[in-house]
Amino acid sequence: MIKNTSSTIVKFHEVPQGGLDFEFSQKSGELNQVLFDILGDYPVYHAILHITPMNAMVKLKGEIKGELRNICSRCAEDFSQSYSKNFLTAFYKSDEGIKNFSGAINDLEGSFDLEFLEGSEIDLAEVIHEQVAIEIPFKPLCSENCKGLCVKCGTNLNTSTCNCTINIEKANSPFEKLKSLRGD
Ligand SMILES: [Zn+2]
Ligand SMILES: [Zn+2]
Repeated sequence: MIKNTSSTIVKFHEVPQGGLDFEFSQKSGELNQVLFDILGDYPVYHAILHITPMNAMVKLKGEIKGELRNICSRCAEDFSQSYSKNFLTAFYKSDEGIKNFSGAINDLEGSFDLEFLEGSEIDLAEVIHEQVAIEIPFKPLCSENCKGLCVKCGTNLNTSTCNCTINIEKANSPFEKLKSLRGD
């Protein structure tokens, strides 16, 4: 059962035993605004979420695929990077107290992210925003072998060469230093 609604809010205590399913993408558009700070004007994402109650917790199983536009940290060129991820999050209401929590945590199997809810609602937009945000690489690279820019003249060394690279290499070469010491 895919819920067709523009709302991204799930009430903690109103998740039926059979669970709730949600699907979001740039075509349905509900999250384009929320994800704008990460994905900009041309977002590419597809998220499928399945939410089920689990004793004192609510379990969210998610699958997200999409593309991120990055700027290479070496050559400053734009590039797209696709990702595909699965995640499991267990939500627990903070005000339920620690007594129920120890019981609930025994029901968790495998690897979960644990989130403590202040209120009684889960905002799926927030969940997806967080999951997409952690895919942003700390140091984006258009390719492992990106040669970057020439520090002297700014030429993109992936697409062309310049004369200063040779000079820099020469200057740094221990053989060149030896040569100059010997006065060759
Ligand atoms: Zn690069
Ligand atoms: Zn150069």
